Amino acid sequence: MSRIVERAYTVRIGVCPGSFDPVTNGHVDIFERASKLVDKLIVVIAENPNKKYLFTLEERAELIRQSVSHIPNVEVDFGSGLLNDYVKSRDSHIIIRGLRALSDFEYEFQRALFSKYLDDDIETVFIMTNNKYAFVSSTGIRELAKFGGKLEGLVPTVVKEALENKFNTLQKK
Ligand code: ADP
Repeated sequence: MSRIVERAYTVRIGVCPGSFDPVTNGHVDIFERASKLVDKLIVVIAENPNKKYLFTLEERAELIRQSVSHIPNVEVDFGSGLLNDYVKSRDSHIIIRGLRALSDFEYEFQRALFSKYLDDDIETVFIMTNNKYAFVSSTGIRELAKFGGKLEGLVPTVVKEALENKFNTLQKK
């Protein structure tokens, strides 16, 4: 009997991991499309202790929650440690990642292979970026916000406001 038949997942749960510092319209577009492929989508904010973030974990979670309030089957959670362990702990076997240009490919390919090496029945599924957001990254957005660039259309309104507040606050310090 094949492994697929052995392990029947009655509810399809997809896990969408990332730093989301901050969440962009590129991410939201991936969440909207991913949410149609699964019964439940968990957006998990993965904390890397070696990285410095502009927004705290709780701030990033709140910005995502407000940005996905129109998608009924999305939950926002926090994760640390191995992603595969988190995925299994949520009774999932599906990791969903967005894919932009070639630059994402090598990193994503390596991550997916590591995941497969650790757990053969966890699948990484890639959703191709929406052409409109192919150039949008959280890093680019932070830079743009820092120098007062136009954020409309690239991030949800709540994120735009949070970035403006953050940089005003940082500049006052
Ligand atoms: P990480 O630090 O794990 O790469 P990010 O928050 O930068 O986290 O990205 C999370 C996921 O969203 C990644 O799979 C990334 O490739 C994808 N992603 C980021 N920006 C976009 C975009 N504009 N379009 C499609 N996917 C995107």
